[in-house]
Amino acid sequence: MNTPRSNDASDMLVVKVGGSAGVDLDAVCADVAAMVHDGVPLVLVHGGSARTNEVATALGHPPRFVTSPSGFTSRHTDRAALEVFEMVYCGVTNKGIVERLQRAGVDAVGLSGLDGRLWEGPRKKAIKCVEDGKVRVLRDSYTGRVEKVDTGLLRLLLDAGRVPVLTPPACSFDGEAINVDGDRAAAATAAALGARALLILSNIPGLLVDLNDHSTLRPTLTRRDLDDPAALAEGRMRIKLLAAAEALDGGVARVVIGDSRGDGPVRAALDGAGTHIVSEAAA
Ligand code: ADP
Repeated sequence: MNTPRSNDASDMLVVKVGGSAGVDLDAVCADVAAMVHDGVPLVLVHGGSARTNEVATALGHPPRFVTSPSGFTSRHTDRAALEVFEMVYCGVTNKGIVERLQRAGVDAVGLSGLDGRLWEGPRKKAIKCVEDGKVRVLRDSYTGRVEKVDTGLLRLLLDAGRVPVLTPPACSFDGEAINVDGDRAAAATAAALGARALLILSNIPGLLVDLNDHSTLRPTLTRRDLDDPAALAEGRMRIKLLAAAEALDGGVARVVIGDSRGDGPVRAALDGAGTHIVSEAAA
């Protein structure tokens, strides 16, 4: 069951699969399983935003999104929102992915960043957001960012033939659960592990010049192109570009923003599909 593999940093892959509507978890898990059986050392990170929105609405806490003065949009995570977030990310989504992998013969272990303080960082107690053109400060927010990744815990699992399946929340330095961006957490994980590539798979073919026209895919970018994410994309894609920049700056050689849909989406992304981003030196 546990295929022997090298777990060398030079081989390591971090795959982030999103949680927006249309993301194909079955296709990603089947491909991850095939790669693990081929001996590829791999860590899977996932999101859960669309399902969280549905469950939050059903439970009477409709989601609220805020836009920072620099133009990044994120979920406003007060205590009630955090609890729903945990139900969906750490519960049904994480266990659904672990189950898919277990059924495919992969010994997956699902963990949030809170478990074992796997992902640790500062909680941002005051969030600035723009509403109706005015800057407001929100103080009831359980959000933050990942500054430290416990690679020892990940290596323990990988060396024991397990495949880590990771999801927000992370753990604040004070031990609180904090919502962190999954793409950026995946970037921090890839950098900390010295991964050879970070694959960010969502419900789009990659970075599009025109969101409504898939023929406008940008096949390649370099690190310098990411200096101004707002010039390249809007909404959630901007955060993926920021995450890509952070991964490259952390030493990851290649970031691919690609599609979770279709046959073999992970290998397709590695083989050239999607938007490939590398440092200037490697381009
Ligand atoms: P996930 O939760 O699957 O990681 P996100 O919703 O965070 O995905 O980000 C993907 C979304 O980014 C796409 O569905 C698309 O609506 C949006 N987006 C905004 N601008 C662009 C762009 N230029 N190219 C591609 N996607 C974009």
